[in-house]
Amino acid sequence: MGYIERVLDQVNKRDPDQPIFHQALEEVLEALAPALARYPVFEKKGILERLVEPERVICFRVPWTADDGSVRVNRGFRVQFNNALGPYKGGLRFHPSVRLDIIKFLGFEQIFKNALTTRPIGGGKGGSDFDPKDKSDGEVMRFCQSFMTELVRHIGATVDVPAGDIGVGGREIGFLFGQYKRLTRSWEGAITGKGYGWGGSLIRPEATGYGAIYFLQEMLADQGETMVDKRCTISGSGNVAQFCAEKAMACGAAVVSLSDSGGSIYIPGGMTSNMLQWIMELKNNRRGRIREVAEKFDGVEYREGLRPWDIPCEVALPCATQNEIGLADAEALVANGCKAVCEGANMPCDSAAIAVFHAAKVGIGPAKAANAGGVATSALEMTQNATFDSWTREEVDGKLAGIMKSVYQQSARTAQDYGDPGNLQRGANIAGFLTVAHAMLEQGVV
Ligand code: NAP
Repeated sequence: MGYIERVLDQVNKRDPDQPIFHQALEEVLEALAPALARYPVFEKKGILERLVEPERVICFRVPWTADDGSVRVNRGFRVQFNNALGPYKGGLRFHPSVRLDIIKFLGFEQIFKNALTTRPIGGGKGGSDFDPKDKSDGEVMRFCQSFMTELVRHIGATVDVPAGDIGVGGREIGFLFGQYKRLTRSWEGAITGKGYGWGGSLIRPEATGYGAIYFLQEMLADQGETMVDKRCTISGSGNVAQFCAEKAMACGAAVVSLSDSGGSIYIPGGMTSNMLQWIMELKNNRRGRIREVAEKFDGVEYREGLRPWDIPCEVALPCATQNEIGLADAEALVANGCKAVCEGANMPCDSAAIAVFHAAKVGIGPAKAANAGGVATSALEMTQNATFDSWTREEVDGKLAGIMKSVYQQSARTAQDYGDPGNLQRGANIAGFLTVAHAMLEQGVV
């Protein structure tokens, strides 16, 4: 049995009930084979064995009181995966599907993503099976305060710096930060994604979506293409999807879909800015459903229970959740002329879908590179907080664009260097891994 197989086998035996974590591990470890062959020292020093085991897993009870007076209990997690490069950094996800398996997959991916940003941040992730969707503001506040009452023991500006993810937006970050501040009596950048007036960075809400489009532009430029007149199917209608749509439209593309967990909308004539503004208000303030867009606007079709991947497009931007593009979706995209897939969400394409895209020579912008703009801008927020400074919109956007270009170049150059030109997935995995692995070697067996 080779080194990679041995490590995968050991993880499977140790945690047989974590299929999503195994899926992420297999994808990354298999991509690393040429780097492990080039540097035998990684095997000698047990780098993979150490990388796949989180440094710390925290699991805790989150009791809170609902508006009707009943007592509810959720489960909270923080997985501190690897801090070789800097404080643990990664979002919090509040969604009923959250379990340790999912938080471990996200935390593992975060290690390499954060390395690609070239900022000094390690990898971590957390969350809860709490569902903010059907809760009042008061219930969300009480939950967040209870969650932070335990999490506070484990985080800090130089220890671990959480941010948002699915179900954790500006409202939740505000409640979490308020309680952190109250419990520690200290105002410090221990959470990112904060509001503009109180330590948040301009462009942080936009950063993941904008960053994905900056990455996509680099991909297309290498094919001699631009965004102009490209039909883009986007899934999701949350933070990442909204700002992907905004930037794609600003670059001259036509956004022809969005979705939520209920279904998708098809807009054959392309979304307008007016429609997008309305959708942002619907989703961020009224917390409504995507089907309401078809009730409000002419020329919009609502497709109950359907994802957007059967809609003809040149570019697909999955921005909702993991494993949302499977074999049949990938085949439909290829058959309808899709030329590039850029992953705004984490691990949205499963391995069968990726194989279809590779065979059809469809370019793939892998999540850990394409959606790194969010965490990169969180790191810029940490810098601003640490220096009690705040930068202009233009300054932050310029830095974000520069970071995304560098993430693309590292991925493309490394793929070439390791004999697989154009395979950005291999390039991003190896480039991120090498930075972390060398740091681990230099820091000894810890
Ligand atoms: P969000 O604002 O909560 O939006 C999530 C969107 O995806 C919503 O439209 C949601 O629909 C939909 N969705 C969630 N789970 C789904 C499911 N199981 N099936 C179908 N639709 C589902 O979250 P977000 O911040 O945009 O995050 C989206 C993705 O980007 C996630 O994979 C996240 O890990 C990744 N990401 C986010 C950031 C960031 O800065 N926010 C950075 C890097 C990566 P409903 O409202 O109906 O649930």
